[in-house]
Amino acid sequence: MMINEYDLHAHTTCSDGTLTPEELVSLAHEVGVSHLAITDHDSVEGIVLAKKCAKVVGLGLISGVEISSRWSNMDIHIVGLQVNEADEQLLQRLQSQHQQRFQRAEKICRKLQQKAGCEDLYPTLLERTAGKPPGRPDIAKLLIEIGKCKTMNEAFRKYLAMGKQAYISTEWPEIEESIQWIHDAGGMAVLAHPSRYKLTRTKLSRLIACFKAAGGQAIEVSTTGQDPTKTAQLAKFAEEYGLLASTGSDFHSPAMPWVQLGKAPPLPKLCTPVWTAF
Ligand code: AMP
Ligand code: MN
Ligand code: MN
Ligand code: MN
Repeated sequence: MMINEYDLHAHTTCSDGTLTPEELVSLAHEVGVSHLAITDHDSVEGIVLAKKCAKVVGLGLISGVEISSRWSNMDIHIVGLQVNEADEQLLQRLQSQHQQRFQRAEKICRKLQQKAGCEDLYPTLLERTAGKPPGRPDIAKLLIEIGKCKTMNEAFRKYLAMGKQAYISTEWPEIEESIQWIHDAGGMAVLAHPSRYKLTRTKLSRLIACFKAAGGQAIEVSTTGQDPTKTAQLAKFAEEYGLLASTGSDFHSPAMPWVQLGKAPPLPKLCTPVWTAF
């Protein structure tokens, strides 16, 4: 498959990715991505760290963030592109997300104690994450380590995914609020991986309508591992709702070879790419 010049969704060690921001920039340059957005979960730290390296190799670095949000009692991710990573208000708001992450992790660990007999999980988690706001993948890794699960996927399927035994619904900002945060920081709001929420066509259309009504600018029409019919459906939705189209791999790690940097399916012809508004 061809490499896309634009990859507008990728993670680093500043959230749940395994490459440092510098390593991610180098990899992007190596594989032929010319414009990369670093979009860590509730963090813009990676941007600052990646800037120098991006300049050296001549890569277009886009400041991004992926904000954990809520809509209709579901976890929805809103990506911000071209946000000002030094914006004090944004940094404060992301701090509040970090607090939510600590509180959520403690609650998840408590549930895992009740449901799966895991002892002392939270202190161990805090040790492992060493001050970084914990994510569910950190907990999944611990579950594997103590022999409760064999794979990350199993950990999510049995315990951590929405509605499963140790799932905790978190008071993330509603999507309207996340969009506002992104706008306040000078960015464009993108509905992340709409196909991954497993919504019916009707509900997906409602989500996109709400997102548009709240001032959202683009949807991720193309993401890795997405069915071509889904990509076509999202392209149509984008056109219908007057939204721009984004594309991103959602790359996390070279250890997950099924998600490669720059390798989301190309955007359908009818789409207006989000970068035309950069
Ligand atoms: P969090 O941001 O803490 O809510 O964790 C969500 C992250 O967990 C996602 O961004 C993915 O990187 C990861 N994740 C979600 N589902 C799975 C799964 N089934 N297997 C492995 N990782 C997953
Ligand atoms: Mn992730
Ligand atoms: Mn996401
Ligand atoms: Mn992501």
